[in-house]
Amino acid sequence: MSEGPIEAEPGTVYLVGSGPGDPDLLTVKAKRLLEAADVVLHDKLPGPEIIESLPEGRREDVGKRAGGERTPQVEINERLVELAQENKSVVRLKGGDSFIFGRGGEEAEYLAAHGVPFEVVPAVTSAVAAPAVAGIPVTHRDHASAVSFVTGHEDPTKAESAVDWEALAAGGGTIVVLMGVKRLPDYTAALCEAGMDPETPVALVERATWPGQQVAVGTLETIVDVSNEVGISPPAVTVIGDVASTRESVADFLRNDYGKRVETY
Ligand code: SAH
Repeated sequence: MSEGPIEAEPGTVYLVGSGPGDPDLLTVKAKRLLEAADVVLHDKLPGPEIIESLPEGRREDVGKRAGGERTPQVEINERLVELAQENKSVVRLKGGDSFIFGRGGEEAEYLAAHGVPFEVVPAVTSAVAAPAVAGIPVTHRDHASAVSFVTGHEDPTKAESAVDWEALAAGGGTIVVLMGVKRLPDYTAALCEAGMDPETPVALVERATWPGQQVAVGTLETIVDVSNEVGISPPAVTVIGDVASTRESVADFLRNDYGKRVETY
């Protein structure tokens, strides 16, 4: 590890992932850049603890606007370029890893197209961390030798859906769905229709590593009811596959305790 305070270069944008929310899961580099940067642009996904720890007066919330709607990505892109051109050192802080459903790729392309130097600071994605803190390894020698990260945002019945649920059902690996609370009934049904065993274990992990983390476990057939019973709401990750059953065998000794935790089997 390098010694002393880190340099945040003027006129440079740092695309930094925050990890899933526990401040102790920030990378050392992320933490040092957050301390050093002139400005931090963030939304709500890094979670309450990390956001509250950001320096007052040097942070800008570019998540939801006053009316509640999301700030258009183009405005965020433009703001990044504007700040860099004012010779500021800028951290763009995203929940999890910036390059996993984080639009970090789009921001990188925009910055490059506008001649702004940038650095990517990879992080712990919720796609792996949320299952992990619930005791679920996304791969396991006995259960899954492949894993897919997919968005649950889309309507699975839409003909031109970007996610091929049939192929996923046939693939046999673990499926990790992000942004998948609202459409849980749709894609669990789509997977069953595509021939996946309705008894396949499914776990939902809400606000992983935040105070108030919740875990709900069921099967493809039962998870919608279990989710309603527990009261799962976004942000949550859905883990589909035999690996989800490993939680049961380790739960008694698992010490990833993040505040009040509700569990249902
Ligand atoms: N770049 C992020 C993902 C952004 S998409 C990452 O790598 O984690 C937003 C989705 O991420 C949410 O809908 C949810 O599915 C997931 N997510 C992010 N943080 C989470 C957390 N702490 N607990 C559970 N899900 C989380």
